[in-house]
Amino acid sequence: MQGFNVLFPQGWDCHGLGIEIQVEKTYNIRKRDVPPEQFRKWCMELVERYIAMMKEGILKLGCSIDWTTEYRTMDPDYWRRTQLSFILLYKKGYMYQGTHPVNWCPHDETAIADAEVDYVKRDGVLHYIRFPFEDKSDYALIATSRPEFIPACVAIEVNPNDERYSKYVGKRIVVPIVNRSVTVIADECVDPAFGTGVVMICTYGDKEDVKTVIKHKLPVIMLLTENGRINENGGKYAGLTINQARAAIVEDLTAAGLLEKTEKITQEIGVCDRCKAHVEILERKQWFMNTRKLTDAVEKTANEIVWYPDYMKNRLIDWTKSLDWDWVISRQRLFATPIPVWYCKKCGELILAKENWVPIDPKLENPHIGKCPKCGGKDFTAEQDVFDTWMDSSITCAVHAGWPDRADWKHLFPADVHPSGTDIIRTWAYYLIVRHLALFDEKPFKSCLINGMVLGSDGRKMSKSLKNYAAAPEVLNKNGADATRQWAAGGGATGSDIPYRAQDVEYGRRFLVKLWNASSFTSKLLADYKPDANAKLDLQPLDKWIISKAENLTKKVTEEFEKCQFNVAMEDIRNFTWHVFCDYYLEAVKDRLYNPDLSGTTKKLAAQDTLYQVLYRILQLLAPVAPHLTEEIYQHMFKDYRGFESLQVSPWPKFNAAIVDEEAEKNGDMIIATMIAFRNFKAENKQALNAQYSCLTINTGSAEYAKILKASFEDIRGTLKVNELIITPQKKPDGRQISPYDMYFEAKQ
Ligand SMILES: [Zn+2]
Ligand SMILES: [Zn+2]
Repeated sequence: MQGFNVLFPQGWDCHGLGIEIQVEKTYNIRKRDVPPEQFRKWCMELVERYIAMMKEGILKLGCSIDWTTEYRTMDPDYWRRTQLSFILLYKKGYMYQGTHPVNWCPHDETAIADAEVDYVKRDGVLHYIRFPFEDKSDYALIATSRPEFIPACVAIEVNPNDERYSKYVGKRIVVPIVNRSVTVIADECVDPAFGTGVVMICTYGDKEDVKTVIKHKLPVIMLLTENGRINENGGKYAGLTINQARAAIVEDLTAAGLLEKTEKITQEIGVCDRCKAHVEILERKQWFMNTRKLTDAVEKTANEIVWYPDYMKNRLIDWTKSLDWDWVISRQRLFATPIPVWYCKKCGELILAKENWVPIDPKLENPHIGKCPKCGGKDFTAEQDVFDTWMDSSITCAVHAGWPDRADWKHLFPADVHPSGTDIIRTWAYYLIVRHLALFDEKPFKSCLINGMVLGSDGRKMSKSLKNYAAAPEVLNKNGADATRQWAAGGGATGSDIPYRAQDVEYGRRFLVKLWNASSFTSKLLADYKPDANAKLDLQPLDKWIISKAENLTKKVTEEFEKCQFNVAMEDIRNFTWHVFCDYYLEAVKDRLYNPDLSGTTKKLAAQDTLYQVLYRILQLLAPVAPHLTEEIYQHMFKDYRGFESLQVSPWPKFNAAIVDEEAEKNGDMIIATMIAFRNFKAENKQALNAQYSCLTINTGSAEYAKILKASFEDIRGTLKVNELIITPQKKPDGRQISPYDMYFEAKQ
């Protein structure tokens, strides 16, 4: 409507871990139980079902998507783009392999990124355990919530400034259960106030252990298998699950007299954001993107981007600065884009796919070279790992612009707006920025619009088990698209979460019914009206009043939309439509239209023209939010005259300061207040609103007020249903007072 040629693309991000989990549940299997091809086929079928459902919703909502651009990240043509972006970044030195500790989901048996770890509060138990000194002189008391990690203890740590324990530093201490000796080391990061102030360092109980091991160059004893069991380093506990091992070790400590006491605590632990399993830290060879070297560039870019609302920028910057580790981009999964890499069986040389080999699945195809460039070997093994799903979705801004196929893709890049949600700032927004900076040295988008989440009616996260769940198709079928869109736009400030309440959508629906009824009533009043831009109009005070108000509304709503304050814009449009237009203006000019012989036909034409223009303005301002209903009304009432194929391509109204008439608005407000006061007067006297009065005297108490009311004499008389109307400047403080204008009514029936 503002004349821009807008591309609204649609892609489907398919490779989420959630899909694999859903397939495992549906078929009651684990992913390694069936051939990988079968498992991937089930994943694709499930994705297709979800896409069909979501697409139906999007189509019903009337989103103006260019469907010729539709893509799915699970299609080979999209693999091509993800794989190409990897090859380019590998060549630029951003991609590397390393054996570093990573977050690991033992349930899904894959590495996960920091962004996929959620933190939750859980009840735990703190175990106070005696660790005897090697020289048998004494013991140190250590409090830990994870005694199962004792077999992986590699050091004991105290704060050197802690007077109680500084004497321990350098001494050898015996790790119970496994009877190995470790050294007591000193580090100021130990909190003397937590537990006993003596800490065991295990590989790896948590992220702090990782930092300590690196800093003090401690050995690593990996204790867990990829599916979360104790491995051979756990001795007699090997094969047990983590929980079983904890129970067994606590039992053995108790039997040995080494468990002094236990204490209940509440602790914050990291869980997998998909399956909610306790996240462990494992070491395994992984692929990483060197994202941390871009931290400063990301911060600078975030400051260049316009954020709606502005404070969301800080969430991104805080997240960027909080990252301890590079982004682990490899996953031990099945349904994902393959990493286009092979290794020479003979010499281990890494062979990276060439740019024109992709899309390629290295597990199904050999590298397109006859022999290893290093040793001449002819046998290769494929990289077994696949990409994190965010490797697919972190190049979308370039892909939407046509990269890598269109020579002119930079024309549409960076994107003007990146619409997203609060829950994926640390993933989608962050990964988009790092990847586009690394690939193209350019920000992915100029502005970022962050929406809140829709919560259940009780304010909690929507979930089927909480029974606070509403399915989009039901809401759409019951209320229609426009009421639903209106609720989404008006439900709350941009960026804040909004609870889903059925009555809020119904309110939207009632508003649309009101608009529809008002339009059809207006249409009847306009039966003998022909719009004519050159007609000389005898505009009355109330006509000027609403025309000026509509112009100010246009200015406000336009600014609010520009600032993505959709809820404020909706509030303003609804108030104007419901009250100013329907309740006041339409009521106040009815009589002028019904009885033109009393008021004169030029005044009738002025009212008709005002109704026509103001209703059109309402439809235009509402068109972005309620496209279906406004279009229907436009086609019936306005298309023949306005001539645009659709309201959606009519030019957005431009604010015209010359139309604003503050005097007219002030005067009109007084006229309307007078009418409302007399309506209330009738109601208080138990009279119907259309009850006829033989005489009404309005004592204005001021010559100026009297003059203003007299200028709308016929509109007031007709609307109030009064045979004889007397407006006088006299002040007569009895009868009914009109606040805030200090006038008085005397009425006779
Ligand atoms: Zn998981
Ligand atoms: Zn080789």
